[in-house]
Amino acid sequence: MRAQILTAAHQPLVTREIAPPRPAASEVLIAVKACAVCRTDLHIVDGELDHPKLPLVPGHEIVGTVVEKGAEVDRFKLGDRVGVPWLGWTCGVCEYCRSGRENLCDRARFTGYQIDGGYAELTVADQRYCFSIPAGFGDVAAAPLLCAGLIGHRTFRLAGDGERIGIYGFGAAAHIVAQVARFEGRKVFAFTRPGDEAAQEFARGLGAVWAGGSEELPPEPLDAALIFAPVGALVPAALKAVKKGGTVVCGGIHMSDIPAFPYALLWEERVVRSVANLTRRDAEEFLALAPEAGITTVTTPYPLADANRALSDLREGRLEGAAVLVP
Ligand SMILES: [Zn+2]
Ligand SMILES: [Zn+2]
Repeated sequence: MRAQILTAAHQPLVTREIAPPRPAASEVLIAVKACAVCRTDLHIVDGELDHPKLPLVPGHEIVGTVVEKGAEVDRFKLGDRVGVPWLGWTCGVCEYCRSGRENLCDRARFTGYQIDGGYAELTVADQRYCFSIPAGFGDVAAAPLLCAGLIGHRTFRLAGDGERIGIYGFGAAAHIVAQVARFEGRKVFAFTRPGDEAAQEFARGLGAVWAGGSEELPPEPLDAALIFAPVGALVPAALKAVKKGGTVVCGGIHMSDIPAFPYALLWEERVVRSVANLTRRDAEEFLALAPEAGITTVTTPYPLADANRALSDLREGRLEGAAVLVP
């Protein structure tokens, strides 16, 4: 089968013909129909997440069809359409797994990082970490739900129930979260790179009541802010924009250093927190909510062979919504 392979950090992916993977007893073999490109993939290629298996097939927003099953597989049958997210395996016995926080599992393994992922024609995944995809979504449209959607949603949930929500970095995650927020009757304020009129227009088109540059203050103080751009300087910027008791949630897996800032920005019970990974419950909840909320995704498809071009378009901000590789 054909796959895009990372052989070392800081190197472009290479196209290789490799032996198809074989499903273990609890795994399904999946014919990949679509795999979205996540900013985390960029952090892996760029060496900012520095413990990938190598060589590695990246990709953790996989939609495909079950074409073979291990002996113990009972959740899916041949021909079922499944999605595979970032969380690929957890131990089930550590203190985090036992307290409903498997996203923090001490021994967790992640798809497209420690487990080969979806930048390929075929992949294997543990059936316990695969999910049915809502019928109304095509394969390409569904792929960004698996990480931009899931992690975006976990980020949004951790921001609380406030009405006014700021979103910094209006890419794949934000464009889905904004629709959920609007569905729940909240107001979205979108912050983009200063001067990025196209991104601001895109945000308004998805229901943002206001869009501006990340250095601006919103017209009303925010109840909470979500940061999806990997830029540490946005943390003090977002703290300035939230009201007393407000929360700033960092949704990414990697961020540049946060500059020093006056304690006054944090005082009055403002909170800064991060989000790490996802639980299977997050996936079940969000994949049930997505059709109910009428979520649509904006995607740019690329042939699998053009994975490097998709990654560089994401790096340079030349994309609206999500890049999706199609084998
Ligand atoms: Zn991701
Ligand atoms: Zn665990």
